[in-house]
Amino acid sequence: MDALRQVWGFDSLRPMQAAAVRAALDGRDALVVLPTGGGKSLCYQLPPLVSGKATVVVSPLIALMRDQVRGLELNGYPAAALHSAVEPEEARQIESQLVSGEINLLLAAPERMVTTGFRTLLARLADAGRLGAIAVDEAHCISQWGHDFRPEYRRLAELRDVVPGTPMQAFTATATPRVRQDIIEQLGLHDPEVLVGTFDRPNLTYRVRARQPGARAIQQAAEAIARHKDAGEGGAIVYCISRKETEDFADGLRGMGLDAQAYHAGLKPNQRDNVERAFTNEQLDVVCATVAFGMGIDRSNVRLVVHAACPKSVEAYQQEAGRAGRDGEAAECLLLYGPGDAGRWTRLILGDHEFGQPMPASTRAQLELIREATRFVALMECRHKALSTHFGQEYEPPAGRHNCGACDVCLGETEVEKDSARVAQIIMSAVARLDQRWGASHVADVLRGANTEKIKSNGHDALSVHGLLREHAKGEVQMYIEQLIAAGALQRHLNDSGFETIRFGELGNAVMKAEEPVTLARPMGSGTVRQERERRSSKRPAEVVILDADEKELFEKLRAVRLEISREDSIPPYMVFNDATLREMAKRKPSTDREMLSIKGVGQAKLEAFGRQFLEVIEQGDL
Ligand code: ADP
Ligand code: ZN
Repeated sequence: MDALRQVWGFDSLRPMQAAAVRAALDGRDALVVLPTGGGKSLCYQLPPLVSGKATVVVSPLIALMRDQVRGLELNGYPAAALHSAVEPEEARQIESQLVSGEINLLLAAPERMVTTGFRTLLARLADAGRLGAIAVDEAHCISQWGHDFRPEYRRLAELRDVVPGTPMQAFTATATPRVRQDIIEQLGLHDPEVLVGTFDRPNLTYRVRARQPGARAIQQAAEAIARHKDAGEGGAIVYCISRKETEDFADGLRGMGLDAQAYHAGLKPNQRDNVERAFTNEQLDVVCATVAFGMGIDRSNVRLVVHAACPKSVEAYQQEAGRAGRDGEAAECLLLYGPGDAGRWTRLILGDHEFGQPMPASTRAQLELIREATRFVALMECRHKALSTHFGQEYEPPAGRHNCGACDVCLGETEVEKDSARVAQIIMSAVARLDQRWGASHVADVLRGANTEKIKSNGHDALSVHGLLREHAKGEVQMYIEQLIAAGALQRHLNDSGFETIRFGELGNAVMKAEEPVTLARPMGSGTVRQERERRSSKRPAEVVILDADEKELFEKLRAVRLEISREDSIPPYMVFNDATLREMAKRKPSTDREMLSIKGVGQAKLEAFGRQFLEVIEQGDL
């Protein structure tokens, strides 16, 4: 507790953190699964301060490592990272500081961990009794069922032979029970303490809408952004599949007077850095990005995340959408779904895989993940519940509520198909006429009366079902097919070469003869948004700080000081102090160093570095 207060300025550990720190201090293996914002880093940063032994942390990105080391140093906690941008001379110095005990936290990339040089270092530390634990951050990267599979993570298990007996702790924000098991097996965790936090994010409102064609999709995003502009500060991220789309969205939004920039891997590194920095520093409010954007983004007041297309997995969705509302305040996640989305991801994943050839298991797994994401979008089931279930947890609506009150489904923003039974029968007969040998997209094309090459060359335009659902959008028909699969009327079959067909399921004949009732539903038109009954916050009541008008004014002044410091010292504002800390200052108005230290997030080092400037502003405000 002393270390926690002194370094981070926090007065307590969250329950899962306490259990994780305990496990680490007991020298146990552990798997810690906490959602974004749950406070994972503290779980491996704190134990070295108590045990006096070093923890070596596997981290996937240089940017993440740098940020973490920077943040720790501001707290007066010496740490270092070893990666490709570190000069050999500096690396040698870091190594000797580790051995001597001047540094107790080292971050490194997985590929470096398995090099001979690094193994030697680990063995040396262990021999000197200096190695406390190995922590694996973003541990889902080890699983082909994870959304960020990184083969080099697979070799981490080798470290167990290099330093036998050294406890290993794995951390991730996204783990289905399947990924969880995979992490434990792949890393060879021994009798691990498994700690899994609650995945639901009550402060997020999830919405799914049909994406309008062309530029109207940009308009949809703009309308959503406008919903949040009124709330004042706050950023928005628009995720697109392709680089070109990020540019189109950014151009379109700028044309509507919004401050938007594109971000993708095709930009020059310095351009990327500029966009990232401007967004983090709150000088830019809208970023239209590919999924390359985000891993290191620590801006806590993102109020909106738009997916301009269906994401490639539910895990990826949870992670990307989860960048909204990290401060615990209400935020929105809007997913714009189009009929071609799953097909685009499939083509990207298949890449140059030759049609008809057997597929590697990891490719099959990725295709399965796309299918799960499609299902998530298409089933008109509470989104909070669907996400919780996906992560193996039961969902409980907030106290006193019969539903979440924070998703399109529970807010009544969906429409039931009036003609459900008839539409279902039509879809079933199309599947039958197509000899149960075609995929969902083709079935939908036939029903909509399309004239694709595939339809013409197979003579499917001559079928009696051709064009029977002409008045329905393709995305809608695909959603209905998905709903019929969930209802057991249809089922999906994937053959060895990745070709997918839709067949009759257990209840197929019953639905076809209208003996079994089915209800089909779709998202409402794009513009309509039902008002949520109240703004929700994920914070426990004790953590919520509500400001009156005067305090709000002081808060703004404190933010201005923060921005000044951030510019002068070139550190992102949130690293100086986060909003929660400034809010508490505005409320409690500390006037002495001692009082300042009692504010959550103010530790000894930051008090010395920045305390004076904030105290002065508070004092002036009090006159
Ligand atoms: P994660 O890595 O799980 O996404 P972080 O480690 O970034 O989460 O922590 C999320 C936020 O919660 C940070 O702003 C951090 O300062 C804050 N935090 C973490 N632990 C505590 C605690 N025990 N008390 C108060 N705030 C905390
Ligand atoms: Zn709901």
